[in-house]
Amino acid sequence: MIRTVLFINPPSLPGTTANREATGGMGLTMPTPRAFFYPPQTIAYGVAALRAAGYVVGAVDAVGQDLTLPATLALLRAHAPDVFLVQVTPKTWDADYRFLHALGRELPHVPRVLFGTGAHFLPYEEWTAVADALLVGDAEWGVVAALDALQSGDDAPGFWRAGVRAQPAAVRIPPNPVLPRPAWDALPTDGYTFLTLWGSRGCDAMCRWCPYVVGWGRPRRSRDPEAVAEELFWLWRTFRKERHIFRDPVFAADPEWVFAFTRALRERGRPFPPWEVEDRPEHLTPEVLRAMKGAGCTQVKLGLEVVSPSLLARWQRVPDVAAGEAYVEAAARAIRTCREVNLVCHAFIVTGVGETEEELAATEAFLRKYRPHYVSVKRFTAYPGVHPIPFTPLPEEVLQRWEARLAAHRYPPKGPWWRRWRRWIP
Ligand code: SF4
Repeated sequence: MIRTVLFINPPSLPGTTANREATGGMGLTMPTPRAFFYPPQTIAYGVAALRAAGYVVGAVDAVGQDLTLPATLALLRAHAPDVFLVQVTPKTWDADYRFLHALGRELPHVPRVLFGTGAHFLPYEEWTAVADALLVGDAEWGVVAALDALQSGDDAPGFWRAGVRAQPAAVRIPPNPVLPRPAWDALPTDGYTFLTLWGSRGCDAMCRWCPYVVGWGRPRRSRDPEAVAEELFWLWRTFRKERHIFRDPVFAADPEWVFAFTRALRERGRPFPPWEVEDRPEHLTPEVLRAMKGAGCTQVKLGLEVVSPSLLARWQRVPDVAAGEAYVEAAARAIRTCREVNLVCHAFIVTGVGETEEELAATEAFLRKYRPHYVSVKRFTAYPGVHPIPFTPLPEEVLQRWEARLAAHRYPPKGPWWRRWRRWIP
């Protein structure tokens, strides 16, 4: 009989930071300790789901608490539950495997169930050597049924037992799900500089470089905008963070949803919680950006990627070259509107996708002309499940030189006139 459950975000490898919520659950290992990482949002929602089902649930975020492997194991020895639920990803698997192997030696009698939206890409022989089962898909939605299945021996959506080679279909959060408030109280929130939430999951677009749809699935499913507004206010009042980051890959894909959400925030009254989103250019129309700004949004991550219409069309980010031209115009308009309404615009560029130096020069000219406040450059990575188009990348040293050039473009907000003026007063 399972009564007590412990979620674990395993420790990073020494000298690194494991970011398991990154890239739609594909994960990311940063090459330095205490680097940026997303708080384990899946654990916060998963704890809440299991509590609502009557389980006694705890969580250990070894990354957030900066725990070493021995310190994590000591903690777990002292609080051994009936089941461990361990978050894992393809890009942190070295650290995950090391932890699971040690955990199995320390507490062999406690079952270990793995979860994470990219976890099913792990090599079957490897994960089955260190765990009893793996939950494929959206863990917060499938975890209650998975624990029932673990006890009964029955099947459950997305529940993959070690010893059964055939991978089950992923369990997916449906449209309009009713979710309990995420149990951030189970996690070391004092150490997080921001918290995350989501209004939608998945995406309907077909970009061939995208790992998000692989991890989070298709089609795009949204939550009730009222419930999301309520959760945002509750997060802010409870945990008092200055940043709340939406993890939606395309936050404003449905403008009516954005208008309903911002209306729900305005109805709750000022002051608004500060919140940040990300999206592709065509969704960020002036109307949408103004509505977001008018309800407390502080920053937009703009997925600009490339400005070559033919490259956009080749990677199926847009259907054809004409749509690519409209895309670039939409990006220019979005940056201009962000500047007008004083909304921070952080543009993201992708490199290493078979672009020419002329196309990189065009991206640079675009940045220089439209001046997004900040620019980040990311090299294309072929994550598991991603099927890139065939291409020949530029030589490494050429790419690196361009990446440094593009990333150097930053045009930060100037701040209010009186603050600038004050700097000149001796
Ligand atoms: S729009 Fe963004 S999230 Fe959607 S498929 Fe393209 S890259 Fe992925």
